[in-house]
Amino acid sequence: MANLIFFGAPGAGKGTQAKMLAQELDLIHISTGDLLRIEVQNQTELGLIAKSYMEKGELVPDDVIISMVENIVKNATKGFILDGFPRTIPQAKALDEMLKKYNLKIDKVIFLDVPKDELVQRLLKRAQLEGRTDDQDPNVIENRINVYNEKTFPVLEFYQSLNKLVKINGVGEINEIYQAIKNAIN
Ligand code: AMP
Repeated sequence: MANLIFFGAPGAGKGTQAKMLAQELDLIHISTGDLLRIEVQNQTELGLIAKSYMEKGELVPDDVIISMVENIVKNATKGFILDGFPRTIPQAKALDEMLKKYNLKIDKVIFLDVPKDELVQRLLKRAQLEGRTDDQDPNVIENRINVYNEKTFPVLEFYQSLNKLVKINGVGEINEIYQAIKNAIN
């Protein structure tokens, strides 16, 4: 049973790659962004809180996200891929505690490395294809990338120090990148 984290900036391809791998290896794909978008769509209490952060490109508060992830992880009957979580050091620490509690561990953290110019181009293209509101405004995109650099990027060091990090070049053909990921986890 493998438990993986897919790490990278907005637009790095985490979702695309995580979906493919989860299907092939029969893992649960836990995308916190997707889960939040469902809450927003259903206008739940959590969705109403999350919406105001998401539309500005800010992070939703840690406690909200952590309990959302814990609810899935604690009931997981197979391995999982975390996509878009943890995104802050407190989230990474909370995940660590949570995994200890349920006697689980992370096997590898896959870091999809993509330069900023390419990220912006991809997000603008995705805005046209998928219509995500947070992809449409260049100011919101800029803010998401800044938030990533300030709050999320430091999480890499945390996993580097645990020797779990694998860096993958996230630029190229989707299938080539997928193969590189599979080689890395084998
Ligand atoms: P994503 O689909 O992963 O790009 O996430 C979309 C938005 O959901 C982000 O810009 C954040 O506002 C919010 N979000 C997703 N995951 C997290 C997380 N782990 N911590 C805080 N906010 C998150």
